[in-house]
Amino acid sequence: MGEGLDSQLLTLIDLQGFDTRLAALEAEAARLPKQIEAIHAALAEAKKSLDALKLKADTTRKELRTKEKDLDVVTAKRSKAEARLWEVKNNTEYSAVLSEIETIKQEKAHGEEEILGLMELQERVAADIREGEARLKAREEQARQDEAVVRKKLEAVETELTAVRADRDSRARELPRPLLADYAKILKARAGVAVASVNSTAICGGCRVAIRPQAIQELKAAQALMLCESCGRYLYWQEPA
Ligand SMILES: [Zn+2]
Repeated sequence: MGEGLDSQLLTLIDLQGFDTRLAALEAEAARLPKQIEAIHAALAEAKKSLDALKLKADTTRKELRTKEKDLDVVTAKRSKAEARLWEVKNNTEYSAVLSEIETIKQEKAHGEEEILGLMELQERVAADIREGEARLKAREEQARQDEAVVRKKLEAVETELTAVRADRDSRARELPRPLLADYAKILKARAGVAVASVNSTAICGGCRVAIRPQAIQELKAAQALMLCESCGRYLYWQEPA
């Protein structure tokens, strides 16, 4: 900074620093709760697929009971048919009952096959549930840890926000109200950057448009506040490092 730099300009530069930091912190404060939501959503999704598996186990169990009852009925039907073999009066009736028994046998075999299939399914689903429960437990533990990390970060961000806001506001009170209002207006209109530096490349650090040589001289002298003729931001001269 050159000698005689307007103290208002120094305040504006500081204010810009605070506001840039605040914008980053506010973005972080908005992003972190979403991260927590995402952790919860992923966990809920994992729970949902486990619940679906449990529902399938339940349905399979009920279906198995039904099939077992059906098989009991078929078995009883077979016993009755076999008993009737002793009561038939002629060969025609005998053949009819035999054929009926054959049909019942097939029905029974089919029922037994279905029951076997359901039992196998039941075992597979039970294994999937055990695996799913173990996985969910691990995920829950991981989620708890992840959430704790994010919550701690959020707490730190909010603490810093409070501190930076307080520093910013006390610095802002050093400026006359109309200047502060102008600064706020430019900040809002220019994507959060109201104060831009100019260095030996002689372009505005905000809009990258070239600054007139005479304006550069005035900027170096820094006797009064200057605005970029292109973007309207406050300008200050930055000596090469
Ligand atoms: Zn500019």
